[in-house]
Amino acid sequence: MGKKRILIIGGGLAGLTLGYFLKNKGIRSFIFEKEKNYGGLCSSSKLDGFTFDFSGHLLHFRRQSTLYLVKKLLGRNLKEIRRKAYVYFGGQFIPYPFQANLCYLPKKVYRECLNDFIDAQKDNYGKIYNGNFLEWINQKFGSGIANNFLIPYNVKFWKVPLDELVYKGIDRYIYVPSLREVISDSCKNEPVGYNAFFFYPKKGGIEELVKAFAMNIDHVYTDCEVKEVDISTRKIMFKNGNKEKFDILVSTIPLPELNKIIMGLPKNITSLFKKLRWVSIYNLNLGLNRKIFPRWHWIYYHQKELPFFRIGFYHNFSSNLVPSSKGSLYIEISYNSDNPIDKKNIISIVNNSLKSIGFWEKGLDICSVDIKDIKYGYPICDINYQRVRGEIINYFTKKNIILCGRYGSWQYLSMEDTIFESNKVAELIYKYM
Ligand SMILES: Cc1cc2nc3c(=O)[nH]c(=O)nc-3n(C[C@H](O)[C@H](O)[C@H](O)COP(=O)(O)OP(=O)(O)OC[C@H]3O[C@@H](n4cnc5c(N)ncnc54)[C@H](O)[C@@H]3O)c2cc1C
Repeated sequence: MGKKRILIIGGGLAGLTLGYFLKNKGIRSFIFEKEKNYGGLCSSSKLDGFTFDFSGHLLHFRRQSTLYLVKKLLGRNLKEIRRKAYVYFGGQFIPYPFQANLCYLPKKVYRECLNDFIDAQKDNYGKIYNGNFLEWINQKFGSGIANNFLIPYNVKFWKVPLDELVYKGIDRYIYVPSLREVISDSCKNEPVGYNAFFFYPKKGGIEELVKAFAMNIDHVYTDCEVKEVDISTRKIMFKNGNKEKFDILVSTIPLPELNKIIMGLPKNITSLFKKLRWVSIYNLNLGLNRKIFPRWHWIYYHQKELPFFRIGFYHNFSSNLVPSSKGSLYIEISYNSDNPIDKKNIISIVNNSLKSIGFWEKGLDICSVDIKDIKYGYPICDINYQRVRGEIINYFTKKNIILCGRYGSWQYLSMEDTIFESNKVAELIYKYM
C-alpha cells in the first residue's frame, strides 16, 4: 500500500510492534537498530546457562486486545503467575502492597497508619486532585503510610523531591485500598493492584515477546546506528556513512539522544530538550549456585541506607531461566547525575548491605554477574513535562517525524502500553498513506 518510504529508528518493543502493526495493514517499513541484537530493554542475555532480563520485565494487561494479541503470538510459551511480593520493614517482610497489608505491621506503626488513613479519607472525601505527587500521597493515604513507606520509597526511587512530580501517570501503579480493606484486622494478603497477577514466557526470558513480533516482520536491520537525521532533506545517515531517504520517519530512541543527531533544530526546540529529566537504573543480575527465597518474586527496600530499592528472583518467574538447582536474582539501584553511584565498587557495596540485613545468611553463592546500566530508566513526570513533550511532539509531527515508544515519546509506559501506543501510531500512518 502506498509508495511512501517509512523508516523506524530503534528495534526495541516500540519499533518492532510498530513494524508488525504496519505490516498487518499492508504497509512496508524499515527498522534500524544500533545494537547487534534487536529488543532494546526487552531483550534477554544468556550467560553460563542463566537467562537475564533488564531486571524484572513482567507483563501486566489492562486491555483485553493486547492480552489476546500477546497470547496469540506466544501461544503455549506464556504463563500467568500470582504475585508474591514483599516490603522489607523493620527487619521483617510485610506483604506488598504495604498500604493494603497494615495488619502485618508492628502494633504501634499499624495504629498510626490506620488512624492517619481514616483521617485522610474523611478530610479528602470526594476531592479532585490537582496537586503534585507528594500531596496526592498524603491526601490519599494519610501521613502514617506516607511517612513510613510511600514517601521514603518514592524519594529513593525517583531521586527528586516528590512535590516536583505530577501524580497523574504514576498513580495507576500505586494501589489505593478502600477504608474497609484497611480497617479489616484479618491479614488476608489478597491479590490487589495492577500487578496482582502477571504473565511471563515459560522459556527464553522476556525476549520471547519481541522475537514473536520480529518473526512476523520483514525488514529489521541490526548493527545500524543512525548518526544523523536531516529534516530539510529528509535523510538519515548511518554510522558507516550510508544514507536513506524517508517520507515518514518514526523515532523510538530516547528523546535526549534524538536531540544529539537531529540537524538544524531551531533554538526554541533545542531548549525544550534541556528540560527533560530522567532517572537511571543500575541493574545487577546475579547467578547463584542455589535457589533462595523459593516462590517469592520480588522485595521492596525503602531504607535510605540500603543502595537498592528492589530485589527480584528470576528463578521464581520460570525455572527455565536457570540451570537446574541454581538460582538468580536482580538488584535494582536508581541514580541520576545529582545522585551518582560508585559503579566501580558497587558489587562490594551491595554485598555489604545484603550482609547488614541478613540476606547473606540465605547463602548467596554468586557464580555469574551480568550488569545492565540503563541510562534512561524512567522519564521524570515533573511539572513541565507534559507541556515540553507536547511541544516537541508537535514540532516533529509537522516535519513528518513521529515520536513513539516509552523513551521516544517520553512517557511512563509499560510493555503493554508501548504495544498499544505503537498500534495508535500505525493507525495514524495508515490514515496518512
Ligand atoms: C528497569 C525497568 C524495568 C521495567 N520493567 C517492566 C515491567 O516489569 N513490565 C512492563 O510492562 N514494562 C517494564 N519496563 C518498561 C519496558 O522496558 C518498556 O515499556 C519497553 O521496553 C519500551 O520499549 P521501547 O522500544 O520504547 O524502548 P527501548 O527498548 O529503549 O528501544 C529503543 C531502541 O532504540 C535503539 N537505539 C537507540 N539509539 C539508536 C540509534 N541512534 N540508531 C538506531 N537504534 C538506536 C536502542 O538500542 C533500543 O533497542 C521496565 C523498564 C525499565 C527501565
